[in-house]
Amino acid sequence: MKKIQELDQSTINQIAAGEVVERPASVVKELLENAIDAGSTMISVEIEDGGLSLIRITDNGMGIDPGDIRIAFKRHTTSKIRTAVDLLSVSSLGFRGEALSSIAAVCQVELITKTAENLTGYRYKIEGGKETLFEEIGAPEGTTFIVKNIFFNTPARRKFLKTAQTEAGYVSDIVEKIALSHPEISISFKSNRQLKIHTAGNGNLKDVIYNVYGREITGNVIEINQENDFMKMTGYIGKAIISKGNRTFENYFINGRYIKSNILSKAIEAGYKFILMQHKYPFTVLNFEINPEYLDVNVHPSKMELRFRKGESIYPWVEECINNALIEKPNIIDVELEK
Ligand code: ADP
Ligand code: MG
Repeated sequence: MKKIQELDQSTINQIAAGEVVERPASVVKELLENAIDAGSTMISVEIEDGGLSLIRITDNGMGIDPGDIRIAFKRHTTSKIRTAVDLLSVSSLGFRGEALSSIAAVCQVELITKTAENLTGYRYKIEGGKETLFEEIGAPEGTTFIVKNIFFNTPARRKFLKTAQTEAGYVSDIVEKIALSHPEISISFKSNRQLKIHTAGNGNLKDVIYNVYGREITGNVIEINQENDFMKMTGYIGKAIISKGNRTFENYFINGRYIKSNILSKAIEAGYKFILMQHKYPFTVLNFEINPEYLDVNVHPSKMELRFRKGESIYPWVEECINNALIEKPNIIDVELEK
């Protein structure tokens, strides 16, 4: 007797969802990235109970055409790339077409959206992968996603979530990183109706650093603005006095994408080697602009890792630029002597 069967679509979606949706913070990350890709200049994020019961993200971007709404929630559907060749030059944050189908597979989702071309807006509901509503309604231009009861249909996964307070902390971290990587977008974040972050969207990174980290940190950063033939590094690095015992202060972005990279962390830390003690890590908010052809972002579904096609040349350059910036500021030496 044959034993092998093809899984049904909703099972496939639930399995796939596991790679993208780990916790409320991963939903917030994907929806924020979509809002940014939609050209928004204003985005608000609201959560209740750490995002366990409710996540609401509203943007003023291009909206979704009514004819595209159902398609957007299918697996591997995207408006951002057309063929594998485009992967070599992705400039959008999304491209895998997996977020909406994954989120809808394990949450109760409501979408309200309107484009400039359509006279009315549309409201769409999908729960555990099943459509429950599609109607015309009045709505401002842009898109709102309301995501309720994460893992409502996969109790085994719900059990792995932490307390509302801890989950709220993870969401806050993601919103902070995304706000820092996009100073040109006004981003607000409310947790249980309390305003936690609000950035002006005036393009000034130092203002965002102030909004996120406060006065003391902002008063102790050095500006970086360096360029070579194949990459550009801009942003701020902290003086030794604001270093930390872990890497949570190390922020860096590649082409507007928040990522984790071993090479970059090590290169940045090498630049600090003469001024920071062992097991101390610097404060940085650095944006790297690199020709997308030198990068491979399609390494992992969360898109948090990437590979460099010219990794060897990045390390010494970043190390040297940071080193120079620290030496050029004499007050840094004072800090070092005080220690
Ligand atoms: P990806 O971002 O990889 O393309 P997603 O599943 O995240 O895949 O989204 C699917 C599609 O839905 C996107 O390609 C985009 O066309 C559309 N979309 C999602 N969110 C928004 C939004 N906030 N505004 C406009 N379009 C959106
Ligand atoms: Mg996306």
